Formats: sequence, structure tokens, C-alpha cells
Amino acid sequence: MKVLVSGASMAGLTAAYWFSRHGADVTVVELCDGLRRGGAPIDIRGEALGTAARMGILDDARRQTVPPAEPGTVLDAAGLPVATIDLAWFANETDDDLEITRDRLNDLLFAAAEPRADFRFGASIAQLADESAVEVRFTDGRRESFDLVVGADGLHSATRRMTFGPESDFLAHQGYYVALANLDPDEPWRQAMYSVPGLMAAVRDVGDGPLAYILVRSDEIEYDHRDLDRQRRIVIDFLGRGDAWELPRLRGAFADDRTTGFYFDSLAQTRMPRWSRGGVALIGDAAHCASLLSGMGTSLAMTAAEYLAEEVARTPGDIPAACERYERRQRRHVDKAQASVAEHGPMMVPGTDEELQQRNDLLRRLAAQHASASRP
Ligand SMILES: Cc1cc2nc3c(=O)[nH]c(=O)nc-3n(C[C@H](O)[C@H](O)[C@H](O)COP(=O)(O)OP(=O)(O)OC[C@H]3O[C@@H](n4cnc5c(N)ncnc54)[C@H](O)[C@@H]3O)c2cc1C
Repeated sequence: MKVLVSGASMAGLTAAYWFSRHGADVTVVELCDGLRRGGAPIDIRGEALGTAARMGILDDARRQTVPPAEPGTVLDAAGLPVATIDLAWFANETDDDLEITRDRLNDLLFAAAEPRADFRFGASIAQLADESAVEVRFTDGRRESFDLVVGADGLHSATRRMTFGPESDFLAHQGYYVALANLDPDEPWRQAMYSVPGLMAAVRDVGDGPLAYILVRSDEIEYDHRDLDRQRRIVIDFLGRGDAWELPRLRGAFADDRTTGFYFDSLAQTRMPRWSRGGVALIGDAAHCASLLSGMGTSLAMTAAEYLAEEVARTPGDIPAACERYERRQRRHVDKAQASVAEHGPMMVPGTDEELQQRNDLLRRLAAQHASASRP
């Protein structure tokens, strides 16, 4: 069986590994010239721990976890400490969950998948035609046919657009934007979380240097996804709401086009009634992005890839039936993760002064409870 995977990140790399382990001949195309770098630490949780273990990467991932996050200081508009927050109070599925940088996990997945598949970087699908096999024209003009095309090309998936229609039919903006950037490691940065109504700005160093992490409430904004200057200006506007703490220096970092790891996107969910059509199946954010507020995007991407490959291996002659079984196995985990965002968003970015006050009161109560529970 010939399988084409579009996208070489969590979903695509995991899919390349599993399809090839089940005997398929796998090609992977990735738009970037190498693995796409950047991002805050992500989590491997719940069922995905099993996927990682079966791939033989769990022990390495555990060795490379980021140091357990100390409860972070929450600052008010004046930059004064008002509470502490420990993300572990909210999100873990099990005590075994682990947190690792996105780059380190991508490297581990790539090392597992690379010997098993034909990787083509700087390449992508230009056109898909689904007949008895899926006929693919690549951006370099080459044509090839595959039994199955797996769209693992993220939130703004081109595979989804070509197979199911425009992304506006499937993406649901959650009312937030996220921005990330690596900060100069040679400069001192005060690590904390600045929190005012509608804006959260944090600096955290997990061992690979300080990272700026911005979450902001906003209606949808029209902009060109390729126009990085415009995106930088949007972030600087968001950060213009105050001058306390590191906000002026963060504005400087986001304004500087030499800053690495810049990432800006709307916090959106992919909602689709079906994730497959004919010989094309979607996995990961392309199919069912829950958004980073769920803390489940990577885990869902990994389980989707394993389940799809496993089901296709069970009935290689009936891909639609295999896809239906994959969707049934995966859907309940997605529904739970997508629903969790309604609760996590206001916790990270309260919308009003009153909500901010209530959130900070809750954090102080949780801190007291955890402190008394850990006392001998
Ligand atoms: C730069 C970056 C930073 C991120 N930071 C965070 C974070 O801090 N916290 C968090 O929870 N989540 C983050 N995410 C999202 C997180 O990686 C995903 O939610 C999750 O891991 C699911 O992975 P995925 O493989 O489905 O999608 P993604 O990780 O988004 O990967 C999609 C891949 O497809 C490639 N691609 C896109 N279009 C095409 C195309 N037309 N043809 C071929 N390849 C294509 C992309 O370059 C990318 O490698 C980030 C994503 C990116 C891209």
C-alpha cells in the first residue's frame, strides 16, 4: 500500500512511523525546508503516552521533559504580585503526563520515522484527484498516485481545503490569539505571568532559553497568514496595554525581525462531521484541532495517527470502513478536549476586572489547599 502524508510534525511524523510499521510504503511531504521549529512546551497525556511507549520513544521523552514548572507569579497591571499559578492544578489527565518542548518531541518522532519513510522537505501537494487511487500533483510538477493521502498539515490544512472546502467552513475562532517568540538568552528576563483583563503575557525558561508567551482575547482579525510584519504589529498593539514589568522589552522583542521562534495564530478549533472522504483522511489539527488551551493537541495528533494506521492495516481493501472505525475511536477524546477550552480560556485570560478578581481569588485558594496538602 502506498501512503502519502502531508505535514511532518506531531501528527505526520507519528503517522509515517505507524503506517510504515504496518508495512506501507510511506512518502512524507513537508512545506518547510526542515522540521518546523518553535512553540512552547507541549504535553503528552493520557492515551498518547501509550502511543509514545509503543513507538519506543517514551523513555527518551521522559529524559527530555522540561523541568517541573514552579508555580509562576501572577502580576497585576502595575506589575505587582497578586497570586501564583501552577498549570498542573488544572490540566493533567494522569500523574504520568509529561511536558516536553515541541522541538525535542518533533526530533524524537522524526528519529523514529525517518528510517522508515521517504521524506521530501520544501514540497507540498498542488492538486488532488480522488478516483480509484488518489492522483497527486506535487508543487514541483511531479505526479504520483497513492492508495491513501493523510492530511497532517495543521490548522490551515491545504489537504482539507482541497478535499472538503474552504477553511472558513470548518474553523471556529475561540475568541483568543496566541503569540510566541524566543527571547534573547543573554539578557536577564523576569519570569512571571502578567495578567490584566483580556491579556496574559508570560516569560518562561524551560531550559532552552526564555520564551515569551502571549494570549489575548480578540474578535477575529483579517490578515494575510504570510505577512509576518503585519502579525508583529498586531502583537505589539496587544502588548501596548501597559508599561509594567517586561512589557516594553517584549514589544521590542516582537518588533525585531531577528527574533527567532515567532509564531502568531488565532486560537481556533477544527470542527468537522467527518475526517475522511474516499482515499483522503485527516488527522491532528487538520481534522480536530482543540486549540492550545486544551493542552491536548499533540496527544490527539499522536493517537489519531496510530488509530488510523492500525485500522487501515486491519482492512487495507476497505479504506472508508477503516476510516470510520478510526473516527469512532478518536472522536470521544476530541469532544472532551474541545469542550475543555470553554473552561481553560477564562482561567488563563479573564475578560473583565470582576472575572480577573475571581480568578485570582481561586488561585490563592488553590495555592493554600496545595500547600496544606503537601505539609507532612
Ligand atoms: C510553529 C508552531 C508552534 C506551535 N506552538 C504550540 C504551543 O506552544 N503550544 C501548543 O499547544 N501547540 C502549539 N502548536 C500546535 C501543535 O503543534 C499542534 O496543536 C499539535 O501538535 C498537533 O500537531 P499537527 O501535526 O496536527 O500540526 P502542526 O504541529 O501544526 O504541524 C503541521 C505541519 O504541517 C506543515 N504544513 C503546513 N501546510 C503544509 C502543506 N500545504 N504541505 C505540507 N506541509 C504543510 C507545517 O509546516 C507543519 O510542520 C504549534 C504549532 C506550530 C506550527
